[in-house]
Amino acid sequence: MVIAIIGGGASGMAAALAAAENPGVQVLLLERQARVGRKLQATGNGRCNLTNLHALEGGYHGTAPDFAGEALKAFDPQATLAWFRNLGLYTVAEESGRVYPYSDQANSVVDVLRFALEKPNISLHTGFEVQKITRQEKGFALSDGEQTLFCNKLIVACGGIAGSKLGGTMSGYKLLSKLGHKSTRLRPSLVQLKTGWAEVTSLKGVRANCKIEILHDGKRHSQSAGEVQFTEYGISGPVVFEVSRDACSERGEWKAQLDFLPDWTEEMLLEELLRRTRTNLPMDELLTGILHNRLGRVLTRSAGVRGRTAASELTAEEARQVCRCVKAFEISLTEPLGMDSAQVTAGGVLTEQFDPSTMESRLVPGLYTCGEVLDIDGDCGGYNLQWAWSSGRCAGLHAGKETL
Ligand SMILES: Cc1cc2nc3c(=O)[nH]c(=O)nc-3n(C[C@H](O)[C@H](O)[C@H](O)COP(=O)(O)OP(=O)(O)OC[C@H]3O[C@@H](n4cnc5c(N)ncnc54)[C@H](O)[C@@H]3O)c2cc1C
Repeated sequence: MVIAIIGGGASGMAAALAAAENPGVQVLLLERQARVGRKLQATGNGRCNLTNLHALEGGYHGTAPDFAGEALKAFDPQATLAWFRNLGLYTVAEESGRVYPYSDQANSVVDVLRFALEKPNISLHTGFEVQKITRQEKGFALSDGEQTLFCNKLIVACGGIAGSKLGGTMSGYKLLSKLGHKSTRLRPSLVQLKTGWAEVTSLKGVRANCKIEILHDGKRHSQSAGEVQFTEYGISGPVVFEVSRDACSERGEWKAQLDFLPDWTEEMLLEELLRRTRTNLPMDELLTGILHNRLGRVLTRSAGVRGRTAASELTAEEARQVCRCVKAFEISLTEPLGMDSAQVTAGGVLTEQFDPSTMESRLVPGLYTCGEVLDIDGDCGGYNLQWAWSSGRCAGLHAGKETL
């Protein structure tokens, strides 16, 4: 039996290795780029956060997030780590549950998978972009416009549209739509958020710990805590990725409220500011030694505290205003930065048209799918790659096992 897999990314490679466990199966792995695992190599800032030990406790989204449960349970983070260990990858888990390769290099993950794919019953075709799928009596014909390959079963593992410079494409949605599968609206997730606040450019490059709340028309949309990074356009960093899902997706007023001293009460900060009024600090250095100096100056300026006059002139009302700016600084949000910069696609191919225990299509027998192309997306922290491994393995095993 020949099983073709379209897409040599995380889920496609997991599917290929699972399908090839059955020696009666010949696997064709088709990748449009020059090599497999291109996006994987860029994950986790080049470190690859390959899973999260808490991935079974939630953290997945979509029209029907429960769809992910069966595949995740069948191949959970511990099973995934044992599988990688068997492929030769050593890993380390952080306290947060995020797991990275011991080498701290995403390349190591790609390499162990690449070597594992070197099996007599797996043939890899790079530079092969499937443009057309035609159903046949006993399977499918796959064409890249020049060459046609045949298979008995087909796994579509084309990924999502996020990170287009690394291989994100509409291809999977289009190919599946021609076979009758519908998709939801696609949105960027785990992405930077743009602001209309002009002063953000003066903070470009500044990192700060904070508690962040995204507010939509004054109501809480999402919240998290961690490190925010200011960019030329807005805010970024893991903490922003965590709250970015569906931010600015509806009309109305969107804001980020940042608490730059989440461990301090307002009274503690007020007391410290009043202590500083008894020193010879200039007014715009009031927060020096507490926050990043550029951030401190922007916050005191935003609080309306005047230029370089002495801190001793600070009034009680001005001190309260500085406190408010440090503890609940609001910046307007306009839109997410876009699919190019997003780490994952929210939305995708409707999961109700697939069987969650096998990943097989309910419309086209012998057709399977896995990974980001489906309407499942995970939180920041290794959840998306865990979904790719679990759903890929599920599709590969079942395509490989089941009879024609
Ligand atoms: C910058 C960045 C950092 C990230 N960091 C993390 C992280 O640290 N941890 C985490 O959990 N997630 C991370 N993610 C998300 C994660 O990488 C993806 O969710 C995951 O790779 C999805 O796996 P996939 O197999 O579905 O798709 P992909 O890995 O995108 O693979 C799909 C493959 O299919 C190929 N393809 C598409 N169409 C065709 C076609 N028609 N013919 C042939 N080949 C085709 C593509 O070229 C691609 O190689 C990150 C994403 C980005 C962009």
